[in-house]
Amino acid sequence: MNISGKTKVVGIFGYPIAHSLSPLLHNAAFEKLKMDFVYLPFLIKPPELKRAVQGIKALNLIGINVTVPHKQAIIPFLDELSPEASLIGAVNTVHHCQGKLIGYNTDGAGFIESLSQEGGFDPRGKRVLLLGAGGAASAITFSLVEKKVSELFIANRTFKKAQELVDRLKKTASSSCYLAPLKLGELSGTNLLPKIDLLINATSLGMFPEDPPPLSPHWLLSSLFYYDVVYNRRTQLLKAAADKQIRYLDGQEMLIHQAALSFNIWTNQKAPLRKMRRVIQENGKLKFPKRSRTTKRKDELKC
Ligand code: NAP
Repeated sequence: MNISGKTKVVGIFGYPIAHSLSPLLHNAAFEKLKMDFVYLPFLIKPPELKRAVQGIKALNLIGINVTVPHKQAIIPFLDELSPEASLIGAVNTVHHCQGKLIGYNTDGAGFIESLSQEGGFDPRGKRVLLLGAGGAASAITFSLVEKKVSELFIANRTFKKAQELVDRLKKTASSSCYLAPLKLGELSGTNLLPKIDLLINATSLGMFPEDPPPLSPHWLLSSLFYYDVVYNRRTQLLKAAADKQIRYLDGQEMLIHQAALSFNIWTNQKAPLRKMRRVIQENGKLKFPKRSRTTKRKDELKC
């Protein structure tokens, strides 16, 4: 990489940031296409976010990715939002274009593109059960509704958050999708699972080796497609899906496709997906910060 006075700068704002695979992905893509760009990680503490966003203009950065905990907090500091970022209520990509900062969300579209291109699965008309109701779940559900799934069940540890997500989807849903919130811990007592075509883990369970699966592997039935958005390790459910020879994808594919869409927004060029996948497979061993005690809750699942 030859940094010169003409090199264009993009990067990622997050806190923490050292574990991020995005610099690896994007710098490999720039190198492959011989583009004079560099992608840098920026450790931005929450109270510094506003000044950091002002810095995008001041430093003439081309754009940034946004990760935890800034995806929602950044919105008031931007000039415009794309329709999907506005619907989802979160931004993972900012483009500095003609003096304006425009916020996008490529997580949901990255999920859908990976599902169809890598998984060969068309969600239209399908019955979907999604576990989780946080940022990733929100982005994915808006894209699934847009793709006209027929039924979407959202199961979360905190029922209220599943209910709120369903309410937001109902307000914006232009399709006739049936939407229902559920409590994650009560799922196995229902007769829903055998009817599901696509099961998605969009909780953070599985990021750490000691995590229990969000659902018993018993429920990975051969008729369904399993997608786990966790990308730093193979979760128990992913291993079970592989053992049972059911169709599955892991979160690395969503990571690669959401990055490719950000790349396209900044550069107007198609990202080299194969190169990005190779670099992740070769170097993508992540070191996550230790789980903080405050994230443990009394009602954590026992499977
Ligand atoms: P988030 O907004 O913090 O949401 C976390 C979700 O996990 C919530 O639904 C939460 O339930 C649930 N959860 C956490 N601990 C749990 C536990 N012990 N038992 C049951 N449920 C639990 O996080 P996020 O940004 O959505 O990220 C979720 C996962 O998606 C992470 O693994 C992240 O790395 C991954 N992700 C992947 C990509 C990709 O490109 N592959 C992109 C974005 C995110 P409560 O509401 O009850 O707390």
